[in-house]
Amino acid sequence: MQFRSTKSQKPQVSFKDAVLRCLPPGEGLYVPASVPDMRQFFLYMDEKTTYPELVATVAPSILQGEFNPFSASMVAESAFDFEPELKRLDDNISLLSLYNGPTGVFKDFGVAFLAAVLEELLKNNGNAMIISAVRGDTGVSLARAFSGRKGLTSVLLYPSGTIRGLDPSTFAPNGGNIIPIQVRGAFDDCQALVTKLINDRPFAERYNVTSANTINPGRLLPQAFYYLYAFIKVKKYLKEDLIFSVPSGNFGNLISGLYAWKFGMPVNGFIAAMNANNAFGEFICGGKFVPHPLIATNSPALDIVQPSNYERLASFYQEAPAVMRNMVFPAAINDKSTETAMKQAWKEYGVLLDPHSAVAFAAARLFARTEESGYTHTIVLATGHPAKEAEIVKKATGQTVELPEKLHVLNRSVEPIALIDPEPEALEGAIASCL
Ligand SMILES: *Cc1c(COP(=O)(O)O)cnc(C)c1O
Repeated sequence: MQFRSTKSQKPQVSFKDAVLRCLPPGEGLYVPASVPDMRQFFLYMDEKTTYPELVATVAPSILQGEFNPFSASMVAESAFDFEPELKRLDDNISLLSLYNGPTGVFKDFGVAFLAAVLEELLKNNGNAMIISAVRGDTGVSLARAFSGRKGLTSVLLYPSGTIRGLDPSTFAPNGGNIIPIQVRGAFDDCQALVTKLINDRPFAERYNVTSANTINPGRLLPQAFYYLYAFIKVKKYLKEDLIFSVPSGNFGNLISGLYAWKFGMPVNGFIAAMNANNAFGEFICGGKFVPHPLIATNSPALDIVQPSNYERLASFYQEAPAVMRNMVFPAAINDKSTETAMKQAWKEYGVLLDPHSAVAFAAARLFARTEESGYTHTIVLATGHPAKEAEIVKKATGQTVELPEKLHVLNRSVEPIALIDPEPEALEGAIASCL
């Protein structure tokens, strides 16, 4: 599979070049230039197929010529000691839990694969420096995935006071390969720094700079795998239309679902489940995208004003606007409906949802009611561990969720290696002093 910029059909580059360069020259983001038809695989994979098996089968055929089945199974085994979990709640609804990774968030799936695949692609003495803007638990997700990987150095940039849970023994000055740097500024300043360093060609070429933010297509592509996994788990029962409901902030998860559809997964549509920050819905319905002011909600990962994957989504719409309008359905769920959904999921099915997953659950309910046929099976993506939002869960359901042992470290506070102004020179200096 080749990749191209959202801004032009040519040049096209390999997967390896796209993940290692991260951003195409000029502007834009990398997107697949053409997609392989994977339908033959769905015929023989079934509910007994494990997640690493699926990845090891699907990845080499998507990345034809770049990745043999042996490498792919090595990567799958090394990336995933956690799996998605599909639970069929009734004839019309299933839950795909994606929060079993090291930080309890679905993002672990894309991050883990990217880290393992970079190590594999560079195994013949290659090296790369992965500079990423992080907040919340994404820093830990990256540190876990990259720690100890041969040839890779992972630089984490974050606004003051926002990172917890890192393990100092993995930091570069202590013999590890993780470099956490605190930036005097906001998250957007960190993200701008990443782009600047990738575009500073002398520096980027000296260190082979790339990023593990979702600007890197190597984070989005592997997220398509869990959609395929969900499909092979439900296909036996499927008599009706299949819909996925996806809690959407930066729209990386939804884009990955669209990739799975492009690979030939038989799906009838995706619900783009948003909270009160739903300006993007107007764009999805064919209007212009006009960002609204930010509204703070009880599902903060969806409080996004300017989705970073806008360009990628827009390129789908440019190619086939009418098809897309029948494929992606926006829904907006307010805080009250989110809590109601948490209560319903608990009462009716005995499952506890975090508020982000509840937004998708509520949107699925809403959609089912508007459907004339009523024969839709919806797979709701549960993106966050309910224990991470224990207070809201308690308020909505009366239930107490314990934080699993492995997530306890997320609360540990850590000192960064350096504190810098948001300037490329300052960052380059701080990195150089650690190497
Ligand atoms: C990041 C995140 C989302 C949003 O995913 P996008 O790919 O940005 O749309 C949803 N739920 C949780 C728990 C998240 O951490």
